[in-house]
Amino acid sequence: MQTECTGGCLCGSFRYTFTADPIFSFSCHCRDCQRATGSVFAAAFAIPKESLQMSGEYRYFSKLGDNGSEVSRGFCPKCGSRAVSTLEQLPDCYLVYGSSLDDPSWFRPSMDIYTASALPWDCMDPSVPNFEQGPPM
Ligand SMILES: [Zn+2]
Ligand SMILES: [Zn+2]
Repeated sequence: MQTECTGGCLCGSFRYTFTADPIFSFSCHCRDCQRATGSVFAAAFAIPKESLQMSGEYRYFSKLGDNGSEVSRGFCPKCGSRAVSTLEQLPDCYLVYGSSLDDPSWFRPSMDIYTASALPWDCMDPSVPNFEQGPPM
């Protein structure tokens, strides 16, 4: 891809730009992502930290994940939308939520993770691998 991608929060006060190919992408069905998003899963992709420029106020809420490493879920303090998060396990990457892209049409999660806690009516793409817990890394 390597084109410039832009995105941001619902109210528009937090914005980001990056030029990089996603390293991997996923939909996470863990209970924490369900609570944090208010939806049934969080769909995101990882990009190298140095490729992302952010502008506007932004905050993080940190919590230990099931694997014992910290997940810092970011959000706009004005509208509460999440756009970017970080994982202690992957210090050189940002996780960007696909739905925060200005043009989300190219984004496709390439695996489903933490499917053990997926809700029974959740729909998953049968053509991508799924893991009951975290992905093998
Ligand atoms: Zn906002
Ligand atoms: Zn999760």
